[in-house]
Amino acid sequence: MQEDNLLDHALVRLDEAAAHLNIDPDVIEKLKYARETTKVRLMIRMDDGSRKSFLAWRCRYDDTRGPTKGGIRFHPESTIDEVETLAFWMTFKCAVMNLPYGGGKGAVQVDPRKLSKAELERLSRAYIQAFARIIGPDRDIPAPDVYTNSMIMGWMADEYAQIVGQAEPAVITGKPIALGGSLGRGDATARGGYYLVRDLAENLGLRGSMRIAVQGFGNAGQHIAKLLGADGHKIIAVTDSEGGVKSEAGLDVDLLIATKNAGKSVASTVGKSGHEFLSPAELVGVDCDLLVPAALENMITVENAASVKAKLILELANGPVTPEADRVLATQGVTVLPDILANAGGVTVSYFEWVQNRQGYYWSVEEIHQRLQTIMEREGRAIWDIAQDKNVTMRVAAYIHALGRLAEAIEAHGTQSFFDS
Ligand code: GLU
Repeated sequence: MQEDNLLDHALVRLDEAAAHLNIDPDVIEKLKYARETTKVRLMIRMDDGSRKSFLAWRCRYDDTRGPTKGGIRFHPESTIDEVETLAFWMTFKCAVMNLPYGGGKGAVQVDPRKLSKAELERLSRAYIQAFARIIGPDRDIPAPDVYTNSMIMGWMADEYAQIVGQAEPAVITGKPIALGGSLGRGDATARGGYYLVRDLAENLGLRGSMRIAVQGFGNAGQHIAKLLGADGHKIIAVTDSEGGVKSEAGLDVDLLIATKNAGKSVASTVGKSGHEFLSPAELVGVDCDLLVPAALENMITVENAASVKAKLILELANGPVTPEADRVLATQGVTVLPDILANAGGVTVSYFEWVQNRQGYYWSVEEIHQRLQTIMEREGRAIWDIAQDKNVTMRVAAYIHALGRLAEAIEAHGTQSFFDS
């Protein structure tokens, strides 16, 4: 979050990948900067009659491979640097999955938990009023991210439809099903990671039941716990922003989800179903097989990377491991399934939603799952092969994979193109 120069840290990965490819330096120059970032101040009426303003941004980082795509985050510590970095990651994530999109991202600097539902709706609508000219089904397509959800996407889609005077469901993804949302979008981020782990388990030497620690218990954290738990793996530690719990016998995942749905921290289950207290700071060092960061950026740093005991890390959050921590983990023999691959299930089902909106024909949940599994396995195996071939980490391999596609597209546009500006 409030880390200085988050984008500079992210760009380290670009240089690492470029060192393995013979690409034009112009390509790197193009990918080092956000194409456009718009900043606005949103003014809304609060329930008590007063007015309040919130900073908001929308970044279109790179649109060489298609319209920009990426979520909108509502968080009190969001910054322009964070938004641009997240948009950079979206650029590479969409290229990793071979989706016909560039990368974008948006944010509002706000703690949505302090707003009433009516205030939240006014803020969501104000965001679309401010950015209606920037977004569009062929230009920039928002979606949910941290602390935003399908209800918010529904309000936003409705506001956009009112502004343009017609239904335009493909302008935004992650909508409620009733407004043209896709089946399977709700658990897509976790499900993509789940398919990936399941498919690579053999290669990673993971057999039998795993002991799993999950950091962050929002959408991604809850669904991965459910999916892996249902396969007989044990969720032994879970934290959220306020506290955590552990149990060697395995946590009661349904109880944890019910607790979150009631608006309480997972820590309030201490003493029930054999749950013991765990401080959030201890989570990274928990003795387990699989560690799943599913919260925010910079959770695994040089300070705590050496304490990691897991053999495998599945990055369901964006940017949870810093480049310096990556090096520590590599020397410890920890395999990291990187964010731009591991959490790409979300944007992939967003892509399915956009396709369904445009064709006006909707797929069954089985069809969504099947298509997601095919793409996750295809790109996961391709990245695994690059990692073996070039003797690099899965992260470097994922960046090589994406950068190759981005370079091809940048070159194909020609040197006098609008995209070259
Ligand atoms: N916010 C999600 C991400 O970081 C999903 C983006 C999308 O569906 O466009 O990948």
